[in-house]
Parts: sequence; C-alpha cells; structure tokens
Amino acid sequence: MFPTAIAGSLPKPSWLAETHKLWPKWKAEGDELRQAKADATLLWIKAQEDAGLDVVGDGEQSRQHFVHGFLEQVEGIDFEHKVEMGIRADRYKAMVPQVVGPLRLKGRVHEFEARLARAHTTRKLKFTMPGPMTIVDTVADHYYGDRVKMAFAFAELLNQEALALQADGVDIVQFDEPAFNVYMKEAADWGVRALERAAQGLRCTTAVHICYGYGIQANIDWKASLGEEWRQYEAVFPALAKSRIDQVSLECFHSHVPPHLMRLLEGKDVMVGVIDVASESIETPEQVADTIGEALQHVPKERLLPCTNCGLAPMDRAIALKKLEALAEGAALARRRYG
Ligand SMILES: [Zn+2]
Repeated sequence: MFPTAIAGSLPKPSWLAETHKLWPKWKAEGDELRQAKADATLLWIKAQEDAGLDVVGDGEQSRQHFVHGFLEQVEGIDFEHKVEMGIRADRYKAMVPQVVGPLRLKGRVHEFEARLARAHTTRKLKFTMPGPMTIVDTVADHYYGDRVKMAFAFAELLNQEALALQADGVDIVQFDEPAFNVYMKEAADWGVRALERAAQGLRCTTAVHICYGYGIQANIDWKASLGEEWRQYEAVFPALAKSRIDQVSLECFHSHVPPHLMRLLEGKDVMVGVIDVASESIETPEQVADTIGEALQHVPKERLLPCTNCGLAPMDRAIALKKLEALAEGAALARRRYG
C-alpha cells in the first residue's frame, strides 16, 4: 500500500553540473562527462533506495533540462541558434532551440542511463520524458507551422523511445506535461490524444505528471496569481480518466488545488504530491501522512501513490535528500494509520 516515488528529477551534484539551476552547465565533457553522469545516476539510485522509496528513477542526471535533454537526440532541430521565447503562456523566458526540418530520432535517447539504472536496482524503475504538448511549448517552430501537427510528430518520436525503454526493462514510463495546466482547453482537445500517441503500444505502466512547475521564482509568482482555488486540473482530468494512461500525478501539499478534483480521476492510480518542492522546510512524517489521509477521502487506498509535487532538480542536494526520507517515512506512517 502507498508505494512511494518521486516526480522525476533530482539535484545534480556540484562535480557534475552547476547547482540550483534549471539549465545548469556541465562541469566536464566527452567521456569524463559520461562517467560523471553515470556516477551521479548510481549515487541517486542508492540514495532513493536508502531513503526507502519503492519506485526509483535516474533522477534525470544525464540531461541538462527535462525537455531539451530529449531534443538533443532529435534531427531537424537547430541547437546552434537558440532564440529567446516566452514559454508556458509567457510565464518566463527561456533560450530554446528551433525546429527547422522534419523530426527524426538520431538514435536512442536514454539507453545508457536506463540500462545503467536497470542493472543496479531491483526496485521498480520509472523513467520520465517530456510530453508532446510541453515539448511544443519549449521549442521554437520554423517548420511545421501548426502546434498540433508538431506535437504529433514529437509524439511519434517519444513513442519510439518509450518502446525501447520498455525493452530496456523500465517498469513505468512517465510523460511530464506541465503545459496541461497552462493550456487547459488544448490539453483536453488534443494534448491527451498526443500523449496517448506517445504511449501507444506500451505494455508497461504509463503515467503522466502534471504540475505547477519547479520551485523557481517565476512559478512561485504565477501560483500567487492563481487565486484561492486552483481548478486547472478540472479541464483535463476527465479526458485523462477516459485515456489509456494508468497513473496521473498532481500537486497537493501546500497547493490550492481542491482535493475533490481527484475524484475526476476515477479508475486511475493517483500520484498525490505530498512533498512541496518550492519550500526548503522538510515535511514531517505527520504532515505527509495527513496529506495522504486527506487524499484518501477522494481516492481509494489501493490507487493512492504518494509522490513529490514536482521534480527536485533546482533544490539544494542535502534538502532534496531529506525530502526523500520524509516522503518514505510519511508513507510508512500512513500505512500504520490507514492500513
Ligand atoms: Zn513538475
């Protein structure tokens, strides 16, 4: 009961990349960088296991950013000439690569770190990739001229890599779609369909992570502007409930999401965010168990998976580690309370 997992990303050690940044520069290159990424991946797998998490991941140690890490292996994208673009409905500016031709995978994207992780843990292994709509929102288009068309082109590539990850022994393939909380109507109209295209033919567990973003200032300001009740999930959950995606993650602790919106996900496993990634204070096991208790009023216990609200990438490494422990300890307390 209550198997724990993180949303996906973890802080990179200071010997691998710049710390406390969303787009950190690597500290090495070539073979040395490859080895450093591998070392960081193993370090975090051990740390997740030691913390007591049931599902572990690579902590996204091999990618600079959760979207651009995938794009680096895609042909038809110009990384040499990045342009500044307002992303997530202009919430913040980012330097993004440009789509300049038909999209094709250059080869495998995550084979190295997926196989490495699989070889070094017997726990369930989750692997994350950006969802098609979020990719489309994090790249400049100079070729397709149509967001939906481009999203489905990316979905095909994601699907190729997802099927290969499944063959590598990954148990859960998760797509990250923070854009679903920004373009709610489009998410329901075509975002979920594009997501299903990305997950087509997978026999492993499939998941989607939808959040209010990393704990960076632009997101903290945005959340403050959303008012007393955050109802963004209301538009997309019904479409997800009808989809073939198995698990859906949402922000809960310290959010203004009305918990009853979880009822819209009937029939799905719900990854409930019980750890705040925008605060450096460490949740107590009681706080985590209380959040789980609140969610239990809307989600059956066999479908409730305690999780972090979002990735931990830009956080302090020592704090992230303590938050992993809080997640596991809180879930253990909830098992005693509600089991
Ligand atoms: Zn997130």
